[in-house]
Amino acid sequence: MCVVEVPHRGIWQIVQPPGHHPYALDFIAVDLKGRPYRPWNLAKHVFSSMDVKDTFAWEQPVLAPIPGEVYFAHDGQHDQMRLNLPLDALRILFFQGRVRTSLFEQYGGNYVIIKGYSGTFALMAHLRCGSVSVRKGMTVNEKDPIGLVGNSGRSIQPHLHFQMMSDPDPFGTDLIPFRFRKFQKFENGEWIVATEELPPAGVPFQAL
Ligand SMILES: [Zn+2]
Repeated sequence: MCVVEVPHRGIWQIVQPPGHHPYALDFIAVDLKGRPYRPWNLAKHVFSSMDVKDTFAWEQPVLAPIPGEVYFAHDGQHDQMRLNLPLDALRILFFQGRVRTSLFEQYGGNYVIIKGYSGTFALMAHLRCGSVSVRKGMTVNEKDPIGLVGNSGRSIQPHLHFQMMSDPDPFGTDLIPFRFRKFQKFENGEWIVATEELPPAGVPFQAL
């Protein structure tokens, strides 16, 4: 178990997609009702296509969750700019899902790995193409910006994939459970302060 800073600002919630390691979490930016974009975009998202820029997560700053040294930074993978939920789900499940590759960028898109001083590694993935602002070997402090949320790699809509690891291999299985140092969560219509917890999936929360 380790305690880290929330890697973004504003209101987000955790989603746990099928196939993810239980300690590997996806974060989407939402409103207080848990919606990732304005409600009128839902029909476009499902039946035609919506602009990636209309999601709340798009180009939100990603912040270093731990202090340490940049172990690896990858940029240059394109972002999927139009979103259609059924087609994107099919693309990921049946097309990209069959591609077997040793290149993590085929899955994670643009990503950063930070090596913390205690020997743990933080992985942030699906960053915006061209937004990665750190390079291998750089020192970062907690909350330093490292890039922007994007839709690169195997991603259905803009989100941040985040995991803590005891080994720098992003394909590795040595994932570490983590908690956030301090945040507030929106439950039953009110904000509740929480320390050294993980917000429950589907509950809007924001860093404090
Ligand atoms: Zn993910």
